[in-house]
Amino acid sequence: MRVENHFSFERRERQILTQPDIMATENKSLVKTEQNAHLCSGCKMPITDRYLLEALGLYWHEGCLKCNCCECKLGDIGSTLYNKANLILCKRDYLRLFGVPGVCAACNKPIAAFEFVMRAAKNAYHIECFSCQICRQRFRVGENFHFYNNKVLCWDHYRMEKEEESTAENTA
Ligand SMILES: [Zn+2]
Ligand SMILES: [Zn+2]
Ligand SMILES: [Zn+2]
Ligand SMILES: [Zn+2]
Repeated sequence: MRVENHFSFERRERQILTQPDIMATENKSLVKTEQNAHLCSGCKMPITDRYLLEALGLYWHEGCLKCNCCECKLGDIGSTLYNKANLILCKRDYLRLFGVPGVCAACNKPIAAFEFVMRAAKNAYHIECFSCQICRQRFRVGENFHFYNNKVLCWDHYRMEKEEESTAENTA
């Protein structure tokens, strides 16, 4: 299992904010407070709790760092999260969405769940691997491919394979 989308985060005590200058006007002190408070990346509100979470270089309320899928509070279940395609996910949802569902029959590399998959019979292929296995011709939308002897073939190579097969059968 690849781990490059796996991040750990930390629970931190928030630095005590500098007290607004009592001589400053109300407006000024408000600005000063906002500048000093970390903004939560989840709800965009200043974080005034004693503890905050630092994840992905951003700050979060403890209750705001949630899995985008099941909404579980990630701080409650551990100190790691998964980040992919702008989603913050718990491990379970990450694996469900981005786990590896199969192996490409052409290149033998795994196909991730979010990738488009071409299927022929029981085989799965990356889109870019879905081509005639002899001449590597790709198929455009609406174009017919042929699946023969567990191979994806263009029309020409399908005919050649078939001919070879029948000559082999005849000579046997
Ligand atoms: Zn928040
Ligand atoms: Zn989740
Ligand atoms: Zn492939
Ligand atoms: Zn071909």
